[in-house]
Amino acid sequence: MEKRNFGSPEIREVEVVTDEEPPSTVGAKALVKTVLPETQKRRTIISPKESVRPSLRSLEFLKKNFPSASETDWSDWRWQVRNSFTSLKKLEEVFHLSSNELNSGNENHNALPVRITPYYASLIDPESALQPVRKTVIPVLDEYFVREGEASDPLCEAADSPVQNIVHRYPDRVLFLVTGFCSTYCRYCTRSHMVAKDKCHFGLKNLETAFNYIESHPEIRDVLLSGGDPLTMKDEDIIYILARLKKIPHVEFIRIGTKVPVVLPQRITQRLISILRKYHPLWLSIHFTHPDELTPEVAEACARLADAGIPLGSQTVLLRGVNDNIETMKSLMHGLLKLRIRPYYIYQCDPILGSEHFRTSIQKGLEIMSGLLGHTTGYAVPTYVIDAPGGGGKIPVLPDYFVGRNGNEVWLRNYQGKLFRYPDKFE
Ligand code: SF4
Repeated sequence: MEKRNFGSPEIREVEVVTDEEPPSTVGAKALVKTVLPETQKRRTIISPKESVRPSLRSLEFLKKNFPSASETDWSDWRWQVRNSFTSLKKLEEVFHLSSNELNSGNENHNALPVRITPYYASLIDPESALQPVRKTVIPVLDEYFVREGEASDPLCEAADSPVQNIVHRYPDRVLFLVTGFCSTYCRYCTRSHMVAKDKCHFGLKNLETAFNYIESHPEIRDVLLSGGDPLTMKDEDIIYILARLKKIPHVEFIRIGTKVPVVLPQRITQRLISILRKYHPLWLSIHFTHPDELTPEVAEACARLADAGIPLGSQTVLLRGVNDNIETMKSLMHGLLKLRIRPYYIYQCDPILGSEHFRTSIQKGLEIMSGLLGHTTGYAVPTYVIDAPGGGGKIPVLPDYFVGRNGNEVWLRNYQGKLFRYPDKFE
């Protein structure tokens, strides 16, 4: 077992209301103070024990690349956000960049900016541009080549957005985009057309129209908070959003879509857990990509969430050269189950602008599903879906196990390719 070396059990004081390092929050302060008088306190105390404990790998990376920072700094999620890698110049100081990475440049001002937390950067191979997790966060020149069929908003979410920050595509549920900020930007992000544009959170005032929409639509029983990443918001804003939704009688449950436990596990503080557990039934969909992400820090963060009774599901985008083989996917799904996370979706990569280098064939996805179904625990098998371009929603895709029918006999193929007959009933 690793020794936790925080030095003296020092308690640090940090700004909460004013220390929104970064991003800032637009207009949130007044609202929060009205609704949550306890947050009028300008300071709170955060103990180092609040955060997940750094692994040896993290400590080595810290010592080498941030020699003036302490373990306490590393364990503070605000420090992680503040010290993220946000330019090629900064990345070059730590990583040996390939020409494809170096040439990604900044010529295209509409491009998704670079942002990688020091923690997630510690998982990156400094030498090899072929390393899977590196490919997902360091930009390459290929992003600037737009192919036929690609679009900035391929899922046409704008067309299903009745008011700002709401996507209402399915009858009984909505997507509530509460922020445009993520602590680490994935190069294949479906919402790269909207994330990072304001370089800050939207602010609670700007979510008012969305709250009003949900309140006035009794058919909405399920709200998925997404963005951007909702868990990059400060505690007080998360409380406000959850409390406000909880007061709406027809909202039966809330989901949060997040990559924070994977790229910024330090954010899963004891205080955040104590907040989230008050708003059950609350579910979390966590965005995982590769088994290399299953570190001791991530395990601790997910254990805290699971222990708080929050059902955890995973979402994984199928990416060429990253996770497009059976062994990698199986290893990821097995690792997730061990962390009490139920594999939920494998997504076919959406055809956003400049995504050709990430996209696989659908046949590849079917091969992976064939390699999982029947070959491992059912709980380890997620649903493979294609989010239909044009706004058709998620369409599940399965290998063909239904061979055909002969009268009242149905012929089926099992996971080994053997044929079996089932005596069907005519209704
Ligand atoms: S965490 Fe999600 S919203 Fe943020 S960049 Fe990655 S895919 Fe996009």
